[in-house]
Amino acid sequence: MASRPPPPILQLKARRQLSPNMLRLTLGGSGMADFPGDQAGGYVKLRLDDGTQGHKPVLRTYTIRAQRPDAIDIDFVVHRTPTGEVGPATEWALGAAVGDGLPVGGPGPAKPLPPGHDFYIIAGDMTALPAIGVNLEALDRSARGMAFIEIQDPADAQEIAAPPGMDIHWLCNRSPGTQPDLLVDALRRADWPADRSYGWAACEFQSMRRLREYLRGALGMTSDRLYISSYWKSGLDEEAHKQIKREDAEHDARV
Ligand SMILES: Cc1cc2nc3c(=O)[nH]c(=O)nc-3n(C[C@H](O)[C@H](O)[C@H](O)COP(=O)(O)OP(=O)(O)OC[C@H]3O[C@@H](n4cnc5c(N)ncnc54)[C@H](O)[C@@H]3O)c2cc1C
Repeated sequence: MASRPPPPILQLKARRQLSPNMLRLTLGGSGMADFPGDQAGGYVKLRLDDGTQGHKPVLRTYTIRAQRPDAIDIDFVVHRTPTGEVGPATEWALGAAVGDGLPVGGPGPAKPLPPGHDFYIIAGDMTALPAIGVNLEALDRSARGMAFIEIQDPADAQEIAAPPGMDIHWLCNRSPGTQPDLLVDALRRADWPADRSYGWAACEFQSMRRLREYLRGALGMTSDRLYISSYWKSGLDEEAHKQIKREDAEHDARV
């Protein structure tokens, strides 16, 4: 079997503090020649360590917030454990120097908002903010809906060029992963037409499960009208989260 070509290496071109808890890194350089055309909203796998014998490479998943011919932008949530530790992706985002290279695999497919729905209901935390931004900016200008976005600080709210009929609500939680009901409670309180809506949600695992119980369980939104995914799990690194996510998907398919 032919082995896959190695992922292109992109260099850090610029770093910008977007808001108190979000950093934008621009990656580009000659590796962009091997990167497929506009993939904004798709995800990449950052290879932070090649792994050693018996250990897999260390990969972390991030969304392409914007793509130009010579560069991509990735927005990193800056998160630390209660003892101040950071995971390898966050460590790289905080510490890499301009010119440093990073193998960037993928991209995997974006999860856009399909056109033609009466109403869009969106929920996510800061890890989903890049995807939500891409999706809202791509929506038809006549689209209507509501987005609920959990942020860590009121100043983490961003300008998004969303259609005027999309109401964006920012919900503040200074300790991400500690309020799994925050998003679902906001959706329960809001007035929106569940029977005529398309739902899109991505966030921490427990928040995702509460949203799924409500949107699919209580409101009966089926997969043709709902995209829902967990992007991380409080207390677990990405490898452990992937395992839990797999088990959850298998269990979910059986019920
Ligand atoms: C399809 C997809 C797209 C994603 N896009 C983005 C994106 O564009 N921007 C982005 O920032 N994230 C994004 N994520 C989430 C990101 O992959 C995870 O947050 C990842 O765990 C970060 O890696 P790390 O090396 O910093 O931390 P890890 O080594 O994975 O984890 C270390 C510790 O940090 C905790 N942790 C991880 N993420 C967070 C968080 N957000 N807040 C608080 N604690 C956390 C973990 O629970 C663990 O205790 C995406 C995930 C998926 C599946």
